[in-house]
Amino acid sequence: MLGKDHVSITLGTVFPFTIPLIFSDNPQPVYAFCVLVAAIIGSLTPDADCGGKPKLHYDFKIVYDLMVPLHKLIVFSFSFFNLKEKMNLEYVVEEQHRGVMHSPIGVLISSFVLTLLTTIVGYFIFHGINATLIGFLFLGLISGQFLHLLEDSCTVSGIRWLFPFGTGELKGSIYTGNKIEGKKDIRPLLYRISLLFFSAGLLILHSLGAIDVNDSGIYLLIFAFVALIWGLIFLTAKIDNDNLWMQDAKKVRELERAVNRIGKQDTVKKRRNLGNKRL
Ligand SMILES: [Zn+2]
Repeated sequence: MLGKDHVSITLGTVFPFTIPLIFSDNPQPVYAFCVLVAAIIGSLTPDADCGGKPKLHYDFKIVYDLMVPLHKLIVFSFSFFNLKEKMNLEYVVEEQHRGVMHSPIGVLISSFVLTLLTTIVGYFIFHGINATLIGFLFLGLISGQFLHLLEDSCTVSGIRWLFPFGTGELKGSIYTGNKIEGKKDIRPLLYRISLLFFSAGLLILHSLGAIDVNDSGIYLLIFAFVALIWGLIFLTAKIDNDNLWMQDAKKVRELERAVNRIGKQDTVKKRRNLGNKRL
């Protein structure tokens, strides 16, 4: 999906949960703001591993600049498991395909690393740590990134949820980016509008006194409605989950062959370097 679709669908999903934080008798607008900003950053983070950069990465270049070293760091951290080549490969061989940042494991690591970095920087600036704020920051980052994976799962390119341990994919029927034969897929727009209507409805009900945002059950109610909307999103995006459990033997073989090829190239390079040094 496009950057603007990721940002708006993610915000539409996360915003209803911040309404009780903003409008309760004991309002916590700073925490709500923190979750929303972190969710926006999280919604753009996974695209750091894509060959074709989304437009928003140019508009918010700082986010992208931060994500590139993060992507490299995650790939590096996997070198201990001997999976580094496989992930590098995914990025090099099939540039437009989605790599490690588009996987649950990448989402978890990058959310953790980003939270840690922000905490360290914050500590040096403010000489203290607000554990609740950090908790909300992590929550925003991980939900933003996780939603990005769900959103991309609705597209024809799909997501490899088991990456790098499997080749199975979850994919839908949404085309984004290029228009096909002059037609444009309006489903992302409809998803955005549905989520927006839900938030607006909540705010109206709150202002009319029809719902109590101080009630502890409010989050359950919001979760139920958001889950319902997402159920409809999956249904209309025609997500095919049969592929998730299928290992593509041909792709695995291709991957192994390419790993061997890169391995051989590395050995030749190393020998050449060694030879040069001797000379
Ligand atoms: Zn993506």
